[in-house]
Amino acid sequence: MLSNDIIAAIATPPGRGGIGVIRISGRNLQSLAKAILDSIPHPRNAHLSYFLDENGHTIDQGIAIYYPSPHSYTGEDVLELQGHGGPAVINLLLSRCLQLGARLAEPGEFTLRAFLNNKLDLVQAESIGDLIDATTADAARCAMRSLQGEFSATIQTLVRALIDLRMLVEATLDFPEEEIDFLKSVHAATRLQDIRGKLERVLVSSRQGSLLQEGVKVVLVGQPNVGKSSLMNRLSGDEVAIVTEIPGTTRDTIQQLIQIEGIPVHIIDTAGLRETTDIVEKSGIARTHAAIKKADLTLLLIDSRYGLTDADQQILQSLPADLPLLTVFNKIDLLSESARIEKEPGKPIVHLSAKTGAGLESLRMKMLEIIGWQSNIAGEGIFLARQRHLQALNKAKTHLDNAIPWVENGRQLELLAEELRLAQTALSSITGEFTADDLLGEIFSRFCIGK
Ligand code: GDP
Ligand code: ZN
Repeated sequence: MLSNDIIAAIATPPGRGGIGVIRISGRNLQSLAKAILDSIPHPRNAHLSYFLDENGHTIDQGIAIYYPSPHSYTGEDVLELQGHGGPAVINLLLSRCLQLGARLAEPGEFTLRAFLNNKLDLVQAESIGDLIDATTADAARCAMRSLQGEFSATIQTLVRALIDLRMLVEATLDFPEEEIDFLKSVHAATRLQDIRGKLERVLVSSRQGSLLQEGVKVVLVGQPNVGKSSLMNRLSGDEVAIVTEIPGTTRDTIQQLIQIEGIPVHIIDTAGLRETTDIVEKSGIARTHAAIKKADLTLLLIDSRYGLTDADQQILQSLPADLPLLTVFNKIDLLSESARIEKEPGKPIVHLSAKTGAGLESLRMKMLEIIGWQSNIAGEGIFLARQRHLQALNKAKTHLDNAIPWVENGRQLELLAEELRLAQTALSSITGEFTADDLLGEIFSRFCIGK
């Protein structure tokens, strides 16, 4: 996967700006630097220079910074040209680099090279993407901690403990008659439980991080006119959905991104789930079911004045059984205080008024509770995990679980050794020690160009 060619890209966003930055990376940039700048700048110093075309005419004037290998972002020679941020001038400069033998960088290719040259591990590389993509301040802070190596270090500690245990087990394999006594004497079972416990804690904080990073999808369902669009508008503080008196107005799904305690929450307002012959409404209903399939939580809205009707029951039955559900009794402003009764105690319920805003705060808290957000461990100690990390952690945990009976009865140590090996491989895939090329391709292709 390592390549010798020189890559170049505009690293600043498209459009006009105060400055525009071109980034170039390759094994040897001396001749390219000399051609554009007429001299090779002093390493890692801001160097005011003309940027020259092939005839020696000035394309632009700006700052050049030269980072000779290995002390650069990619580990190769890197040259950064900071010119004026107009699309025409920056493109001329990029063309000049291509003319001198560079090619356009793929998305994430600079970071890929940094990874391949051991400047970063995979978690850190991903955290750069996460930092750039972070939509909330908390997510950005978590990404920064991952970039600084906190998550990687935690994984490494687990991997090292596993390696120690594996060495003991594999050594025992050679002396079968003393297996049980030996494993006892080195407290193999306790060590395994200890690693498993630590892994469990990493999983908990990673799940929190994944909520912070990826957010949750919440779908609003309910009969026409129960107040889905009104609730969505209330939650987002914005007039996004059309609110009308005519049942069935929201014929399509409308999405809105809000934040609750720093967690990105995608709220999807849907068309009603009732039976219909109207074609437009039917396509809306198909989309509703598609949205529900991808949801993490459904809010079933009910008109408090009528309680749970047969039509509501029908909607309820059409929802997937394993999808978390919160029943929302709306329009409590139309009820007298005494008429409010808790129906179906034990099931998550809130009473509110989308019109007055009463009960909105308890709705937010209930939503967080259901999706598993633990405010007490928020902030420090959360790892901004991706699905990939969660899968690897879960896989490692499964193998450790499988290993426990073998270590306890001290028989079939080959199986114990194998489970430990698989657990280690799963964990190491997080930081990228054993990672297939196609996975790398997928991870880096999601980056922006120039990063
Ligand atoms: P949807 O069809 O479920 O999206 O319902 P809408 O949000 O369009 O609301 C239907 C009607 O109910 C509108 O006239 C809203 O103003 C009204 N409505 C929604 N929520 C409340 C509420 O909490 N209290 C009262 N009094 N009216 C509401
Ligand atoms: Zn609506």
